[in-house]
Amino acid sequence: MDQFKPGDLCPRSGIYDVVHDGVHQDKHQVTMVKGESFPPCRHCGEHPRFTLAISAHHAPNHEHFKK
Ligand SMILES: [Zn+2]
Repeated sequence: MDQFKPGDLCPRSGIYDVVHDGVHQDKHQVTMVKGESFPPCRHCGEHPRFTLAISAHHAPNHEHFKK
């Protein structure tokens, strides 16, 4: 599974698992949209690593909903 770090561009929209430094925050999940950059953490900086848990189109970018 591809792993991403702060500053990388999100290649696929969906829900990502996030692992921090293991001290201030347990593993959790966030939603990301394709093209956004993965953010640094306010507590552990560049430490977080993101892996795609559930892929899901951002509705406005889905072929059925595009204008
Ligand atoms: Zn953190």
